[in-house]
Amino acid sequence: YDLRNEDLKDLQELGQGNGGSVKKVEHVPTKTIMAKKIVLIDAKPSVRKQILRELHIMHDCHSPYIISFYGAFLSDPNICICMEFMDKGSLDGIYKKIGAVDIEVVGHVALAVLEGLTYLYDIHRIIHRDIKPSNILCNSRGQIKICDFGVSGELINSIADTFVGTSTYMSPERIQGAQYTVKSDVWSLGISLIELALGRFPFSESADDSDLSDFEGTLSPGSMGLSAKREKEKKDRRKSKGVSLQGGGMMMSILELLQHIVNEPAPRLTPESRFPKEAEDFVDSCLLKDPDARKTPKELLKHEWIEQARASTFDLETWANTF
Ligand code: ADP
Ligand code: MG
Repeated sequence: YDLRNEDLKDLQELGQGNGGSVKKVEHVPTKTIMAKKIVLIDAKPSVRKQILRELHIMHDCHSPYIISFYGAFLSDPNICICMEFMDKGSLDGIYKKIGAVDIEVVGHVALAVLEGLTYLYDIHRIIHRDIKPSNILCNSRGQIKICDFGVSGELINSIADTFVGTSTYMSPERIQGAQYTVKSDVWSLGISLIELALGRFPFSESADDSDLSDFEGTLSPGSMGLSAKREKEKKDRRKSKGVSLQGGGMMMSILELLQHIVNEPAPRLTPESRFPKEAEDFVDSCLLKDPDARKTPKELLKHEWIEQARASTFDLETWANTF
């Protein structure tokens, strides 16, 4: 595809994230339906061109577990990234609509994400860096694919918000400033799987710390909530001339949550809930706080629960057409 903005007809708003917004569009000359992500970046022309070059390697990413890439172009002051449209949307939207996701489906999600991560790392040495339910997409053919992986170092650097990448799915070692590794993605996968299986974000109730109950509703999953809150925080600070950090404002709460992730035991699929023990064990191994003890996506593909998902005859296509 030779993509030009004039050839893309907007059909529907799909969602807003930290870096920008996503629209369902039609590439009129070829009648292809696509998802167009618009990222506002605050960068020099040379950097913007560099980002486009870096995004180019997405053309070489071919896996049934990775969203296909149609192309990217500059549309001042944005970068537009056109990708495969997934008609059932992301898993956060799905569980918010249908409630807790059947554990058998969650097993298939785990399998798909591990396959996608293993492909990205083994073939392209790419680490995803942003695994969360809104970056795991589903279509009416029952396929599950990941999107929004960190192909472009310059893009990661350029997104104008320093809180991008600070997310509640972040691993303890990342919070403490260690380098990203494939094992950080495994942690984020573990948190995401609990969220899907329970139908709620795991940190919102597991925290017995009374301060943390403030998060419910407001500090909902993901970096978007953080960012919105941060904007509000900035405004408040302007109003109150810089005292809000001492007053137990939202900024403190974010730090408390990050501290909680670092200092407290990891969340689990609780034994009293009726999940298969293989699922509990899998999630526990994703959420080992020591990254050296945590396995890689490739190693986890050999886990009993994943083998079961691979062997299962569960019909994801039928499932995906129930909502
Ligand atoms: P976030 O992932 O933080 O929610 P994004 O800007 O990446 O923010 O995406 C916004 C929303 O757009 C997502 O939550 C998802 O539901 C939807 N979306 C993104 N990419 C696609 C796609 N390829 N097909 C269908 N929906 C998509
Ligand atoms: Mg996304």
